[in-house]
Amino acid sequence: MKGVFVQTFGCQMNASDSDRMKALLAPLGYLAVERPEDAELVLINTCSIREKAEQKMNAVANDLKRLKERRPELVLGVTGCVAQQEKEAIRRELPFVDIVLGPDNIDELPWALEQVLRPNSEAYVKTEFDREARVWSTRTELLNPGVSAFVSVMKGCDHFCSYCIVPHVRGREKSRPIQDVINDVKLLVAQGVKEVTFLGQNINTFGKRAGESLHELFYRAHDIEGLERIRFTTSHPGDLKDELIRCFQELPKLCSYFHLPVQSGSDRILKTMRRFYSIDQYRERVSALRQARRDIAFSTDFIVGFPGETEEDFLQTLALAKEIRYDNVYAFLYSPRPGTSAAEREDLTPASVKLERLSRLQKLSHQESCALHAAEVGQIREILIEGPSKKDPSRLTGRTSQNVPCHVDPEDSRGLGRGDLVEVLILDSALTHLSGRLATQASKAEVQSETR
Ligand code: SF4
Repeated sequence: MKGVFVQTFGCQMNASDSDRMKALLAPLGYLAVERPEDAELVLINTCSIREKAEQKMNAVANDLKRLKERRPELVLGVTGCVAQQEKEAIRRELPFVDIVLGPDNIDELPWALEQVLRPNSEAYVKTEFDREARVWSTRTELLNPGVSAFVSVMKGCDHFCSYCIVPHVRGREKSRPIQDVINDVKLLVAQGVKEVTFLGQNINTFGKRAGESLHELFYRAHDIEGLERIRFTTSHPGDLKDELIRCFQELPKLCSYFHLPVQSGSDRILKTMRRFYSIDQYRERVSALRQARRDIAFSTDFIVGFPGETEEDFLQTLALAKEIRYDNVYAFLYSPRPGTSAAEREDLTPASVKLERLSRLQKLSHQESCALHAAEVGQIREILIEGPSKKDPSRLTGRTSQNVPCHVDPEDSRGLGRGDLVEVLILDSALTHLSGRLATQASKAEVQSETR
């Protein structure tokens, strides 16, 4: 056996691509290892959505160079969005890299490896979009799926939000046929998976070219025996249809959690971001979702310091965060992405002002998360056990339907195992997690009488 070390930057889509690469390499005798020193093949799977691509590459380039100098036989690869965007620079500045593959080309990895292992071979570089097909034909490849698995159902995006690099590095939107996805999920369930998270850059428009839809996928997946939970990400509020909201009323396996990126609380800024919804429309979607599912939790993304953002715009962002009461806020400082239209705009706000705004938003969102979690104490929540807690392996950890990690008291953990769905009486809370004990008949009766 040989070792492959994969370092992943970025989003869940990239994590899923890394798992896929490991699975593609397994038949060639490559086993995933934890350290590059133990590997014969090192792959850097990159993301350029939020930080400058060059910075990321520079951060790893020196390490890669040292490794290759010590072990010239080591094969090095750069894959993902940075490979797509920076292939010329990689070839020029990192000539010791053997393989460069864009996100649409990672399935060629076994072939690329075979090529570069030949004597006197040249680097293998492929960063082509699959421009012809508007349908994506693939299979989920996972070596040892756990209780919960990511399933990519589409890639690319047809929107051109003014700050976003995704359409430039992942191409136009392409969806998989529903039947292919269902076949994958059935196979995963047969391997012990209880929860799937469907992934797409703008998953709300899944299937649009084939006359299929996300809600149709949910109904089909819901019928799969043995599958207990369905999650999905990421949504565009402007593409969120009533049929999808209705799923939260009709499909109990669909988790009570919705990541709905709003990006800004100011209509003026949303317009310059080219997001094509207003804050009123966003509010209306949130309220329809809350009517469909009373206990639904929300998370969101905010970009702070977008070019032209005034204090007034930012106060509207704070007001929205307070009004919606997100369980989790992912707040990022704006950074210009090469090739996007926002990168051309004049940006007069000093960095210190942007940083101060970011810290105000983070403080508010932490307060909200703490308050929402504290309100869970005394409630009974169902959790799916994922395994021992990293900090204290004597207790098991799972997630609530609202996607909050929850630890089970060590005494109760003994009789439980990975994949169990159990009800927990929440006894304690923190910013990032909950903890509790298994709910008993008595505790359930007590909670019921209090809520009556
Ligand atoms: S919808 Fe999302 S992925 Fe598509 S361009 Fe906008 S931010 Fe990027």
